[in-house]
Amino acid sequence: MFPIEHRIMVSHILYWLRLEKEDQGSLLKSAFKECKESKHDFYTSILFNLSYLGLSNLLQSPHAYKESYVKSVISTRLKDQYLQSFRQKLGSFEILETCKGDNVYECSGYLETVKNVKLRNVFTRLRINNNKLLAYSHSDKVNCEKCNVLENTEHMLFHCKRECLSKERERFISQVRKLMPSYPSKGTEAKIKLLLDIGTKQEDLIKVICHHVNTMYSLRFIRP
Ligand SMILES: [Zn+2]
Repeated sequence: MFPIEHRIMVSHILYWLRLEKEDQGSLLKSAFKECKESKHDFYTSILFNLSYLGLSNLLQSPHAYKESYVKSVISTRLKDQYLQSFRQKLGSFEILETCKGDNVYECSGYLETVKNVKLRNVFTRLRINNNKLLAYSHSDKVNCEKCNVLENTEHMLFHCKRECLSKERERFISQVRKLMPSYPSKGTEAKIKLLLDIGTKQEDLIKVICHHVNTMYSLRFIRP
């Protein structure tokens, strides 16, 4: 998702370009001239942004450039810069590897498909390792009390031997295989991606997945 401040910056620059191209003698042209001479915030911010984007040449001869060209150059540069800094941040951020995806700047599928806010909270917490499972808690205890192995998201969703979780997992598999027969034979990574990224547009499947993920996480803490 392209940040809103970038869209604002693009429209500011395009508006400035239109002002530069405004007919001589028009009232708007006079007002803009005064804006430049008095170093109004609007104009100084345009100067700053153009130099930040490496587009100072636009200032010298704004008439030489078409609006569509300027729009596409600015959008591409902003997107590149944004992606670069986003990837740097993501690299140092603890998140399930399988949830990082390729087009990381785009809205993850689950944000569009999971409408319930409480449910989205569960999904996000599981995806970014910010939840109550022992592997992410701030105590020394990281192993599942039942299975004595690291209790992380993968363990809770797919391997934990707690009775309530095993039963829910079986119930889910019998339900999901009717909608997606290939589910049981998928690898863990593909399953995580399907469950936490909701990589499907199939509405009945989305409902089944949402219900399952939420139930698993609730059961883990309701019935120890
Ligand atoms: Zn366990």
